[in-house]
Order: sequence, then C-alpha cells, then structure tokens
Amino acid sequence: MLVRVVKMRWIRLLAVALLLATPLVADCDGTPRGGRARSAGAHPSALPGAGPSATSSPSASPSPGVYADRLPRFDKAPPAVRTAGAVEDGGLPWVARVPTDQRVAFITIDDGWVKHPEAAELLREAHVPVTLFLTINAISDNPGYFRTLQDLGAVIEAHTITHNKLTGLSYDAQRREICGSADQLGELYGQRPTLFRPPFGEKDATTLRAARDCGMKAAFFWKESVNQGNVWYQEVKVVQPGDIILMHFRDQFVEDFIAALRGIKAAGLTPARLEDYFS
Ligand SMILES: [Zn+2]
Repeated sequence: MLVRVVKMRWIRLLAVALLLATPLVADCDGTPRGGRARSAGAHPSALPGAGPSATSSPSASPSPGVYADRLPRFDKAPPAVRTAGAVEDGGLPWVARVPTDQRVAFITIDDGWVKHPEAAELLREAHVPVTLFLTINAISDNPGYFRTLQDLGAVIEAHTITHNKLTGLSYDAQRREICGSADQLGELYGQRPTLFRPPFGEKDATTLRAARDCGMKAAFFWKESVNQGNVWYQEVKVVQPGDIILMHFRDQFVEDFIAALRGIKAAGLTPARLEDYFS
C-alpha cells in the first residue's frame, strides 16, 4: 500500500516536471521564473489590448497606439535634483528610495532572459523613462532587442555577467562580474553603465567596494516589485516619492509594466530617469 502511494507520488511529480519542460530559475527578487526566452517575432495573441498590428516593425504601429486606453498619462518629470547618496561600507550609496522630495518614482527592469515582443511598443507609447539592469548571459542571444529599447529611451545599466549570487565571493570574483558586465554592455550599447544592481538584490561590503572600483556611482535595491500584474509593496500600499520599482523581462511584461505605471499614477507621481539623479 505504502509502496503504491509513493509510486503514485513519483508518477505525479514526473508528470509535473514534464509539463513544465523547463527548469524554474529564480529572478533577481528571488521569485521563480518559468518558461524560456520568447522570440521577438512571436505575437502574444492571448494578451488583451495587443492588436495584430503590434509587431516589431515600426511602420506597423499606427498612432495613437494599441495600448492607448490602458496606459496612464503623466506630466513631464521635474528637472532632477541630484543626490550624492549616503555611501555604505566605504563603497557606494545603496539605494531603495532616492532621497528626494520631488514627486517622482523610478521604473527598473531586470535580467533580460524573456524578450517580450510587446516591450518596444509599450515603451514607444508610454513615453516614460526606464532603467534596464541587464545580465550579460541573459541578453547575449539577442542584444539587438535591447538596442531597440535603448533607441526608445531606456538606459542600460549593469547586473553582472552570470547572475550568480555575489555575497561571500572574493573581491576579484565580484569585480570580474561587475566590471566585466559594464565593459561588455559599454561595447554593445555605446555607453558604459554607471549604476548597478546585484543579482537577487543581495550585496555585502565587498560588492559595494568592487562596484565603486568598476566605476559605478550607486547600487540599487527596491521598495516595490511587480509580478503577475500586481505591485507588491514593502511598506505602505502606495508608491512614495523617490521609490525604486523593480520588474523583470518576463512573459507578463505587458501586465507588469502597466501595473507599475498605474501604481505610480495612483500615488500622484511621475516616472523619472534614475540616471539624472546619480550621474
Ligand atoms: Zn536579476
């Protein structure tokens, strides 16, 4: 009897494993990431609001745009008041909320494994600044995808080569991950990153020193994260001025991006360019 139960359980586990087909990998906030990179040519016909004209071809995207009725509109961000930030562990400022009274928040999008075909159209229509913390191993199969986003105003920053956890690694090992990714991104996109986010948002004192020595100006955590079309708040359930919002290049890019914008809008804030505060 017991043998039979155990056997059934194994069969069930095997079925689930086959169903998933791909291994679950953790995103940088630790939540599991299923599925594999989606080709930029595939069209998510199941997504509401994504019309047949929304492809990667610019001429096929008529104004006012397929997302016009789903995207909140914002006032232009005020001129940035720069901050040096408080240096931590003799390294760099470690920032989850930019110290500012300005009515702004910051959208950051990490990794790059899933290259959703609608991301470019969303950026084109939303007209908001975003910062992309890209992992070299995630983007190397299609760096051009992110060049398109860069052309639409996204700024590309560093997020290591391998996305391995940095904490506990030697200075040299951390430096290789951080400097190496910044160098390669600089070559790929014509501008070497000056901002850094460690994988999983995990750092130690060595991370901040290595990042500083790699030419970074600040390293970032977050106050809100977006997943499955929902904003997850760490504190009160409203975005605060200066908050860093984390999302990922995931299959739910459309829902996540719109949820981030709506969260910012509901708080009476405007998306601003993170680089303007730390350059
Ligand atoms: Zn990450």
